[in-house]
Amino acid sequence: MSLTIDLTGRTALVTGGTRGIGLAVARQLVEAGARVAVMSRNAEQARAVAAELGAGMIGVGCDVTDGQQVETVVAEVTDQLGGIDILVNNAGFTRDNILLRMAQEDWDDVLATNLTGTFHMTKAVIKGMMKRRSGRIINVTSVIGITGNKGQANYAASKAGLIGFTKSVAREYASRNILANCVAPGFIDTALTTGLPPEAQKALLDGVPLGRVGQPEEVAGAVVFLASDLAAYVTGQVLVVDGGMVI
Ligand code: NDP
Repeated sequence: MSLTIDLTGRTALVTGGTRGIGLAVARQLVEAGARVAVMSRNAEQARAVAAELGAGMIGVGCDVTDGQQVETVVAEVTDQLGGIDILVNNAGFTRDNILLRMAQEDWDDVLATNLTGTFHMTKAVIKGMMKRRSGRIINVTSVIGITGNKGQANYAASKAGLIGFTKSVAREYASRNILANCVAPGFIDTALTTGLPPEAQKALLDGVPLGRVGQPEEVAGAVVFLASDLAAYVTGQVLVVDGGMVI
């Protein structure tokens, strides 16, 4: 087994690949030799990011909450790049509030993107993976899905749901050599966290043994590992990348 990560000849699709963790994942996948498609709701931005990633990469507009749209866009990506070997379900967002003040819309919207979006995407790519008897699915959950958090009942439920979903998919498709794992980031420096009030950021940092915020590239490294031949015997796992937050 080679210790070099080489994804030459593989096709990867990264949801939410236009910024933050998803963009770092897309960049590292390209660096490892994969053909990459990035997806976000903003088609123009996705295309601009793809052009920046390099020749042959593609950017597509798609809302992962819309199952019909997902089917169509996944078919288009497959036509252009070939069957998808690596799916990274990374699109996600927060809409925090304490339970008493959480509107049903806040619950529904967060679940629709973070959990149901992953269901739609996984369903759309898994048939092709089954035919090729090979595939990697990497779902970006969160340490909050493991620990829960005040003010994040919707987000924690969606991320905990992803862990159960991933373990089930791992069991269902192991016989077809399709491996499914989660990466659970802690406190990472992206648009999702820069908006937090300074007191909240300090409180989070106090809980990080490594004493610093993580960088998107540090999460991407774990995703690329799970996509690589080095992780050929790893399935149904949650790889926590959090500077020690949930030790
Ligand atoms: P960002 O807000 O920086 O990026 C989110 C990406 O998802 C964007 O590309 C966005 O593009 C896309 N997106 C959002 N909603 C949809 C949708 N419905 N359909 C398609 N694309 C969508 O977030 P991060 O990089 O910080 O987070 C990435 C993932 O990591 C998320 O799942 C998040 O929960 C998780 N995570 C992040 C942590 C952190 O500290 N940052 C910690 C733990 C987990 P657009 O808006 O144009 O659609």
